[in-house]
Amino acid sequence: DKVYLNGSIVNSGDAKISVFDRGFIFGDGLYEVMVQINGRFFYEKEHLARLQSGLQKINIEFCVSSLKNEIIGLLKAAALSDKDCLLYIQITRGVAPRQHSFPAHIKPTVMMYAVPKVLPEINTINAHVITRNDFRWSRCDIKMTSLLGNVMLNEEAMQYECFETILHRNGVFTEASHSNLFFVKNGVVYTHPADEYILNGITRIVVIELCHSLGIEIKEIPLATEEINTIDEAFLTGTSTQIAAIQKIDNHLLFKGNEKGPVTQRLQEAFLKLK
Ligand code: PMP
Repeated sequence: DKVYLNGSIVNSGDAKISVFDRGFIFGDGLYEVMVQINGRFFYEKEHLARLQSGLQKINIEFCVSSLKNEIIGLLKAAALSDKDCLLYIQITRGVAPRQHSFPAHIKPTVMMYAVPKVLPEINTINAHVITRNDFRWSRCDIKMTSLLGNVMLNEEAMQYECFETILHRNGVFTEASHSNLFFVKNGVVYTHPADEYILNGITRIVVIELCHSLGIEIKEIPLATEEINTIDEAFLTGTSTQIAAIQKIDNHLLFKGNEKGPVTQRLQEAFLKLK
């Protein structure tokens, strides 16, 4: 398995990073994940633009478009050029003696790898989810590598043999530990607005566009936790999750067996056609 590290493509065992890398010490870095389907990256421009805008938010100077050729080279070296695969990109602030403030004249560490991944045509996930208090920080719009909050909240779902943990903060649902969250009520789709309490998922943006083009009413308004028993459907979105129907929220069963809601199904079918 090949890894791209600071301009070179090496075997993963030979990819070495300093223990003083601020990504390791502080989680001071960002990442991005995108999927190649049928020889092209799905919404590549949007993924790379989010990474670039994240870097600007945390003051790391790096031009993401310089990665385009490097990505092609990495895929070639990994024999994945024409294969369905996931690409992981991580950029940290770089290596410097430990100090909190941003060091001057520091060079970002750039790492990428790709793994084969064929996403299912038909999404058969019928997710059981648990609800938890969103105790993460208040800049969830930054796709940072410090995912301890997300990791701890996701681990709880695993303990309960659930697919995801959906999160609420100040009485409203925000998102899930590694996906965005949508509800359907009386034919209207609801999702939390893209502010600092959620990551603005690329799949989320695609689903909002699909709602517009299908004539489904979509409101970027958060659902209050006390409204949970009044919803008709719920689903999760993410790059590898795609659009996953939610079957059960805590003890509240929305659908039995393989059933899912009509709006979720319509969006899943329209999503398939984009690939
Ligand atoms: N929210 C969180 C917290 C995430 O980690 C992710 C990505 N895994 C998403 C939402 C979905 O984003 P995207 O659709 O861009 O994969």
